[in-house]
Amino acid sequence: MSPKHVEQMYDALIVGAGAAGLSAALGLLRSERIAAMTQAGHTPKILVVSKLQPLRSHTGSAEGGIAASLGNVSEDDWHWHYYDTVKGGDWLVDQDAAQLLAKEAPATVINLERSGVAFSRTADGHIAQRKFGGHTARFGEQPVPRAAYAADRIGHQILHTLWQQCVAQGVEFAEEWYVTDLVLDESHEQVAGVVAYDTHTGKVHALHARNVLLATGGAGRLFHTTSNSWDLTGDGMALTLEAGLQLEDSEFVQFHPTGLAHTGILISEAARAEGGVLRNSDGEAFMQRYAPGHADLAARDVVSRSIMAEIDAGRGVADPKDPQGPRDCIWLDMTGIEPDHMHAVLPQVVETIEDYAGIDPTKDYVPVKPTAHYTMGGIPITVDGEVYTWADDERHVIAGLYAAGECSCVSVHGANRLGGNSLLDACLFGHRAGVAVGARIAGSPDTAAQDAATATADQSHDTVEAAAQARRNELSDLLKPNDPAAADTDDTASHHPENDNAYRLLADLGAAMERALAVRCNHDSIAEALRLVDSDFTERARALHAHSESPAFNQEVTAIWEVRHLLELAKAVLRASDARHESRGSLKRTDYPNRDDKQYLAHSMVGGTGEVAWQPVHILDMPPQARAY
Ligand SMILES: Cc1cc2nc3c(=O)[nH]c(=O)nc-3n(C[C@H](O)[C@H](O)[C@H](O)COP(=O)(O)OP(=O)(O)OC[C@H]3O[C@@H](n4cnc5c(N)ncnc54)[C@H](O)[C@@H]3O)c2cc1C
Repeated sequence: MSPKHVEQMYDALIVGAGAAGLSAALGLLRSERIAAMTQAGHTPKILVVSKLQPLRSHTGSAEGGIAASLGNVSEDDWHWHYYDTVKGGDWLVDQDAAQLLAKEAPATVINLERSGVAFSRTADGHIAQRKFGGHTARFGEQPVPRAAYAADRIGHQILHTLWQQCVAQGVEFAEEWYVTDLVLDESHEQVAGVVAYDTHTGKVHALHARNVLLATGGAGRLFHTTSNSWDLTGDGMALTLEAGLQLEDSEFVQFHPTGLAHTGILISEAARAEGGVLRNSDGEAFMQRYAPGHADLAARDVVSRSIMAEIDAGRGVADPKDPQGPRDCIWLDMTGIEPDHMHAVLPQVVETIEDYAGIDPTKDYVPVKPTAHYTMGGIPITVDGEVYTWADDERHVIAGLYAAGECSCVSVHGANRLGGNSLLDACLFGHRAGVAVGARIAGSPDTAAQDAATATADQSHDTVEAAAQARRNELSDLLKPNDPAAADTDDTASHHPENDNAYRLLADLGAAMERALAVRCNHDSIAEALRLVDSDFTERARALHAHSESPAFNQEVTAIWEVRHLLELAKAVLRASDARHESRGSLKRTDYPNRDDKQYLAHSMVGGTGEVAWQPVHILDMPPQARAY
C-alpha cells in the first residue's frame, strides 16, 4: 500500500514497521496531547515508511519470549532483572536506562496482552514464562522463568497485534518504500526529512518532516552466517553515519550459540530452556565445565565462546549433510525433551530442524554453530528516543530526530544482550520515543496540519529536494543499459564491473567480516577486513549497476543501496572493534584478553570517517564486578 498522495510536510515520519516502529506510532497517537489536538481538528500528519510489507519485518521471526518480572514467580522482582541486565552487558550498560527497562517491563507485557497478544498460559491462567540465559534471582544464584512466551512464536504474535492496532487507528503506511537518505538541515542540528524510493513505481520522493524516527532494525547481514532475515542490512545505522552523525558501541555484535549448521537459521534459546543440551564430539555436555552453575543457560557470549573453544580443541563435529567437511559444529541434543511437550512448546524449532536439516530432533542430535544475531550498539539515543552526538564531553541532541529498536542504542544491552530483552527494548523504548515525538508535535507552534503552505518556504525544503534529485540522477545511472561488449564471460574476471553484482559483493563482505570478527578477533584479523573494505569492496560497490533497466520492482536497485549501506557500517564496526583494546561481553580480542575498566568503561562513539570518541557509562548503584556464570 502506498499513501494516496505525498504531503508537503509531515509532522512525523517513522521509518520501519517492526515492533519498534509500530510501538512508536501507537505511542504517538495515544499520547494525550495528540488526542486533544486531533479532537480540536488538527490531526497530525504521520506516515510509516517501510521497505517491507510491515508483517514481513524481522520482529515476526522472534521465537523465545519477552522478558519481564511479572510477579508470577515469588523469587522474581524487577531489581533482579535490572541486575541481570547490567551483569549480562558486562557493565557497559547505562544503568538509568536499564532500571527503566526492568521497572517498566511488566506494564509493557501487560499492555501487549491487553492489545491482543495471545501469550501461552499456565494451568492457573497466568501468562506463562520460561527460563532464559542469564535471567536469575539473588545475584545469579537461582535461574528464574522470566521470558513471557507464545509457544515459540512470540514475535509473530507481537507484530500482528501491533500492526492490527495501527490499522485500527488509521495509521498511514508507505509499504515497500526504501529510504535512501536521512537529511538534516544546513545547521546539522535539526532534521529536515528523508528521501524514499517507491519500489512499485521506481519514483524517488522527497519527504519533508519536522520529526523523523528511525526504527530500521539490525544488521546481521554484515556476516555470512546469520539468523537475521535478508532485509537486515543496517540501513538506519548507515543513514545516520552518512548524515554525519555517530554510532555507539557498534563493535558489540552478538553471536547466538545455536544457529542451524550451514544456514545460520536460529534454533531458539527456548530449546535449551526446555531441556536441550550442547554436546561435543565425545558426547560430553561440556557447558557444565565452562559455567558450572548455569551450564547451557549461561549468557550467550559465554556459550558461543565455549563452543568455539571446543571446536578449536578438535572436539567439534561435521554437519551430517557434509560429513567430509570442516568439524565446525557442535551437537544440540534435544532428545531428553518429551516429544509431545517438544511439539507443544517448540513447534517452530521442530519445523525448522525438520525442513532445513532433515533431522527429527526427538531422536537425533542437531548440528549447530554460532550465528550473527543481534547488534547491541547502534544510533545513540536518550531514554526518550532522541538521537544525539557526543562532542566536547556532552550529548548534543539533533532536534526532531529519534530512533528506537535494534538500530538504536539506549544502552540497555551494553556489551552483550540477554535473551528476551530486545523485544522489550523495541516495544518499551519505541513507545517512549513515540510519546516524545507526540509531545514535540503538540508543543510546536508549526504543525504540518496548520502550515503546510508556509512549509515550502523553509530553507530545509531545498536540502531535502537536493538530496532527492541527487538520488534520481544516481538511479538513472544505475539503470543505464549494460554494454554487452564489455561483459567478460571468463570466471576469473567475476569482479569485472560487468560481471559483478550486489549479491556477490554481499557474500564476499559477509565472509570477510566473519573471518575478521566472528566470536573472536584481533588487530590482524580486523586490519585484513579493513583493507578489503576500504579498497576492493568499495571500488566494486561504486561500479555496481542494475542488470535490468526497469525502475519498477527492480530489486537489484535496493540490493545495491543495501550493500553500500553495509559497507559504510562495516567500516564503523571494524574501526570501533580495533579501537577497543580489551575483551568485554561479545567482543573477545585475543590480543587483549582481559576487561580493562580503567580505560574502557566507556561507550565507543564512531563517526563515518572512522574517528572514535569515548562516552562514560552511566553507573548508578552497581559498580563493575567480575562477571562469572
Ligand atoms: C530469528 C530471531 C529470533 C529472535 N528471537 C527473539 C526473542 O525471542 N526475544 C527477543 O527479545 N528478541 C528476539 N530477537 C530479536 C528481536 O526480534 C529484534 O531485535 C526486534 O524484533 C527488532 O525490532 P525492530 O522493530 O527494531 O526491527 P525489525 O522488526 O527488524 O523491523 C525493521 C523495519 O525497518 C524497515 N526498514 C529497514 N530499512 C529500511 C529502509 N531503508 N527504508 C524503509 N524501511 C526500512 C523494515 O521494512 C522493517 O519494517 C530475535 C531475532 C531474530 C533474528
